[in-house]
Amino acid sequence: MTDSADNYSDLREAVAKLCSDYSGEYWRKIDRAREYPSEFVGALTEAGWLAALIPETFGGAGLPLSAGAAILEEIHRSGGNAGACHAQMYTMGTLLRFGSDAQKQKYLPGIANGSIRLQAFGVTEPSSGTDTGALSTKAELQANHYIVNGQKIWTSRAEHSDLMMLLVRTTPPNANLKKTNGLSVLLVDMQDALNNGMTIRPIRTMMNHATTEVFFDNVKVPVENLIGEEGKGFKYILSGMNAERILIAAECIGDAKWLIEKSVSYAAQRRVFNKAIGENQGIQFPIAKAYANMRAAELMVNEALRLFEAGENPGAEANMAKMLAADASNEAANVAVQTHGGFGFAEEYDIERKFRETRLYQVAPISTNMILSYLAEHVLGLPKSY
Ligand SMILES: Cc1cc2nc3c(=O)[nH]c(=O)nc-3n(C[C@H](O)[C@H](O)[C@H](O)COP(=O)(O)OP(=O)(O)OC[C@H]3O[C@@H](n4cnc5c(N)ncnc54)[C@H](O)[C@@H]3O)c2cc1C
Repeated sequence: MTDSADNYSDLREAVAKLCSDYSGEYWRKIDRAREYPSEFVGALTEAGWLAALIPETFGGAGLPLSAGAAILEEIHRSGGNAGACHAQMYTMGTLLRFGSDAQKQKYLPGIANGSIRLQAFGVTEPSSGTDTGALSTKAELQANHYIVNGQKIWTSRAEHSDLMMLLVRTTPPNANLKKTNGLSVLLVDMQDALNNGMTIRPIRTMMNHATTEVFFDNVKVPVENLIGEEGKGFKYILSGMNAERILIAAECIGDAKWLIEKSVSYAAQRRVFNKAIGENQGIQFPIAKAYANMRAAELMVNEALRLFEAGENPGAEANMAKMLAADASNEAANVAVQTHGGFGFAEEYDIERKFRETRLYQVAPISTNMILSYLAEHVLGLPKSY
């Protein structure tokens, strides 16, 4: 299969080489046990890939977003799953853009060298869901501490992170306040919080994602852990969304390529009725269509990256890239199951695992409906629907 983007070929080769140490057997084993891929994440960290986007002044590689996208795509293209560690690449941006010098000096070098993990990102709550402005976890300032009470849900990797980027309400909702104002971002020291009122409860999901519910019962967070200004948290979180969407889209492209390659090779070697099943157009066409859709989505990912790196605000392109790439990987997963017949359902082929893993991106970190809604309202000028 050809690559439309032949950039970062050395980087891609190095990441692919590292991933080749983590075979399907490795991913199957941890998937079965719903274990965190600590060895894989450790190897990525040690090789410096998770610090690719951190500026060199703080010990990272100072590479642009397209390098992060290439790293994540290669992990998925190898059949692996970067869901265990991708958040650090985009969550770190909030600290970098809005953190104080003291916060950056305190945390970024540790994140770059792997001694501090910033993997947890607490936004979603059980009752607010997609409606982030309706979140109710509150933080009240008392002397030198915020006292946090409430609950988050779907906080992935909370058990495998030293810090959590937490969105809380610091000003109670009132008639004069826009719903998304009055929210603030706190950087929570997880070990400290676990000893003073924070509880983590894992949620078992259809794929291995280390996601959790997190409860806050009078958890004290030092005031110096407020990121930027109080009340502006929603804006800070929003500013990282383009990067998040583009990076997740790159993972979906990697998934789609892996699934299409698996489908092609199986279709070529599986013989039924004395011929390869891949000789039948009923098998060829769905694979070819999935390939075309993947390539089209990849073009949008590249366009979103180009605009992002030119300093623009590619909200529309980042959203479209995420939606089209998630659709492409979902289609490729369906096609792969169909092409593999019964074996598509067998654990040892990894197809059913990838089918489960890539299905997530229709819903998280943003669901397809919300992207369509964004395009309808902000690009096409249709009335706001919610
Ligand atoms: C495995 C996993 C990991 C996650 N990790 C994190 C994480 O680390 N941190 C974090 O903060 N969150 C995380 N999330 C949460 C994720 O971002 C949300 O699940 C997602 O944003 C949807 O929110 P919800 O589940 O509350 O769905 P809801 O908001 O209840 O929506 C349910 C459905 O209704 C649709 N819908 C809602 N309103 C409208 C509307 N106005 N118009 C049309 N359709 C609508 C949605 O699109 C969705 O399909 C994770 C979720 C999962 C499943």
